[in-house]
Amino acid sequence: MAMTDLFFNSAFLSSGWQTSVRIAVSEDGWIQAITSGASSAGCESVPGIAVPGVPNLHSHAFQRAMAGLAERGSSNTDTFWSWRERMYAFLERLSPEDVEAIASQLYVELLRHGFTSVTEFHYLRNHIDGSRYEDPVEMGRRILSAANQAGIGTTLLPVLYRSSDFGNKPPAPEQKRFVADVDDLLGDLASLQDSTAKNPQYRIGLAIHSLRAAAPEDLAHAVSSFRDIDNEGPIHIHVAEQTREVNDCVAWSGGRPVEWLLTNVPVDKHWCTIHATHMTAEEATALAASGAVVGLCPTTEANLGDGLFPFEDYAGAEGNWGVGTDSHVSVSPIAELRLLEYGQRIARQERNIAAGTQDRSTGRALLEHAWTGGSQASGRSTGGLEVGQRADILSLNENHPVLVGRTGDEILDSWIFSGEDTPVQNVMVGGKWVIRDGHHEREEDIFNNYATVLRRLST
Ligand SMILES: [Zn+2]
Repeated sequence: MAMTDLFFNSAFLSSGWQTSVRIAVSEDGWIQAITSGASSAGCESVPGIAVPGVPNLHSHAFQRAMAGLAERGSSNTDTFWSWRERMYAFLERLSPEDVEAIASQLYVELLRHGFTSVTEFHYLRNHIDGSRYEDPVEMGRRILSAANQAGIGTTLLPVLYRSSDFGNKPPAPEQKRFVADVDDLLGDLASLQDSTAKNPQYRIGLAIHSLRAAAPEDLAHAVSSFRDIDNEGPIHIHVAEQTREVNDCVAWSGGRPVEWLLTNVPVDKHWCTIHATHMTAEEATALAASGAVVGLCPTTEANLGDGLFPFEDYAGAEGNWGVGTDSHVSVSPIAELRLLEYGQRIARQERNIAAGTQDRSTGRALLEHAWTGGSQASGRSTGGLEVGQRADILSLNENHPVLVGRTGDEILDSWIFSGEDTPVQNVMVGGKWVIRDGHHEREEDIFNNYATVLRRLST
């Protein structure tokens, strides 16, 4: 099989920084060999510093189009719950074509900032009137088509959404586009798996929207049935994002959401709990011990006023985590990691929190979690530059003002902690260059489609 040999003057491998690095990539996009101190003869010499692409572990693509549209005060205190009303009103009008146009634009933006894969927590499933599309996975196929246009690696998670609140309360009218019963959802999963099975760019998993949205028996049925289909597939759930949710869960069950989940569901390393913002120290320790990944989305959590993740407890228990952009008020892994670190600094009045008490780079500590936790949560092998991983590679421009003169881990620190401009120059996903010199070859068409949709929605 034909291979491509890439050559970088400097690369951050899973084993650390190396120079004169040759990376052999198979035709289907896997890293097959890495040699340091190599010659560039016969290789494609790539400018810039090679670092792994960052996996984005949590996205609701359609929300990209409403970023900035929920930022007005009102006479009532504005919270996550009032934001959710606006989000529901916004999605009332979206067609499958709209979702594909929005997702395509989003994915190009994610790539440009250094995300090479995305995990799509996909709950916008039904027709505008709540009926099923003729093809029940119409919306899921639109997401995959957008991913294919942009060339981003994708884990698609059809979402179980059954109820409006704890105690199996019937869904509200504005939730009609999300609702599916467990067997329909399993049918969605099977048909999406069929259409992606041979393509290493894609993986299909399961999401449970939240403990509010799925009664225990539905949750158990979905999880055990999914395990029959895919024993190691990723399973994601929103949990403990809001204090109201915590209080309602306690009123319903006597337990807090993370506590309830860990007691009643077989959570393991194939799980990803999104947010997990409101945990006691005991819950944080137990969640870390489960091996699951926590999906942190710091800019969305800040935007929605969710609260601050108990990083000290969770990191102290060596918990796995990664980052996502969720509602896409940011599209940059750097913005997410920086706000994660800064939130903790503000709360604790200390510096260099992710580095812990060791003399090491904070940027490297943050990125290593984002790479490995993001890969684990996606169920795809995209956790770093090493043999057997996907060839998801960024080249950072060493002549960019953010990076000029930097060496070693200073490169990672300066990438995160030196402003808004991105030094990401070239982006490879699964062995194919999708961003060259900051540009995507289809960016104009993709933007024009997006602009048409946004102009129509604004009327
Ligand atoms: Zn979310």
